[in-house]
Amino acid sequence: MDKKKKDKKIISGENRFDPRRARMGFAQSTREVKKASPAVLTEDFPALLSEIFLENGIVIPRGSGSEDDSPLHGNGTVKPGRPDTEDTDYMVLRNLSSFAAILIETNSLFNLTAIKEPEEIALLHFADSLKISDDIPKGARVLDIGSGAGFPAVPLAVARPDIKVTAIDSTGKKVDFINRAAKQLQLSNLSAVCGRAEELLSTVIAQNHIAGIDRGSFDIVTARAVADLGILYEICFPAVRTGGSFIAMKAEKGREEFSRGSTQFSKLGGNGGTISEYTLKHKDETYSRSIITVTKIEETPEIYPRSYGTIRKKPLF
Ligand code: SAM
Repeated sequence: MDKKKKDKKIISGENRFDPRRARMGFAQSTREVKKASPAVLTEDFPALLSEIFLENGIVIPRGSGSEDDSPLHGNGTVKPGRPDTEDTDYMVLRNLSSFAAILIETNSLFNLTAIKEPEEIALLHFADSLKISDDIPKGARVLDIGSGAGFPAVPLAVARPDIKVTAIDSTGKKVDFINRAAKQLQLSNLSAVCGRAEELLSTVIAQNHIAGIDRGSFDIVTARAVADLGILYEICFPAVRTGGSFIAMKAEKGREEFSRGSTQFSKLGGNGGTISEYTLKHKDETYSRSIITVTKIEETPEIYPRSYGTIRKKPLF
């Protein structure tokens, strides 16, 4: 490798040796991550996830997983990587670990997400996605718009077998990935549909009523890191049933976008909304995040959502 490239790699931290990562059997560089074997992830990742969930106040009650939650294999041997925690469902941790393995493997072939390292996936994808789990009522029908590689849709479907999750994304390869992961993980409560949300939910575009994506029919509609709230609200809110809620998961700009929107939510039948801010943390890394929730108190007028061109040109706020 020429010297300039080598220096750049060292500055970016790509080559820094982390003994803890080595102990966990995790890769030391981006290139190695691409080779991280599914076996390593499924065996050691549950313990890392458990630690990160604990640090970030994510609790998955025992019994949430659908299968055997025993720490032992059928032959009496101890399952590898079983975290030492009494209140987290081990089956959920194992299923999330299997999903991490599928994600890393597929991401090395097609670019699905910029978050590629096991630790980042655990914190920024899994822990963050599950921050809203407690806000979802039992048995809810959930629509996740702009799901990308499956966030928050997949972690929610894994941790909450009582809910039914539909994911929408406009990119076919991401939808195919989610459907393939759902099949591999045997998640009968998760399916994904390809399309633009504003077209699927429109009263005027003929493409609506596909695969049960009906306006005003979902208990909860989620969207994480998809668009500015002034655009996102119009794209998503028509799907919420009266009495249900839209949950937008945002990074640093959440507070500013919420302040602009709270007087405008009523145009589509929403209440004034709420915002809750939190920090995702692991070791010395911290990330500011926010959750904006708007509840539907009246039906959304039929003219919404408008075409994407109009929404972009004249956003609601
Ligand atoms: N929610 C995921 C996450 O948090 O990792 C993905 C975020 S990614 C930045 C945004 C995704 O939203 C992309 O996969 C894009 O294809 C999708 N998207 C953007 N606008 C959309 C729309 N109007 N309808 C459906 N999908 C959309």
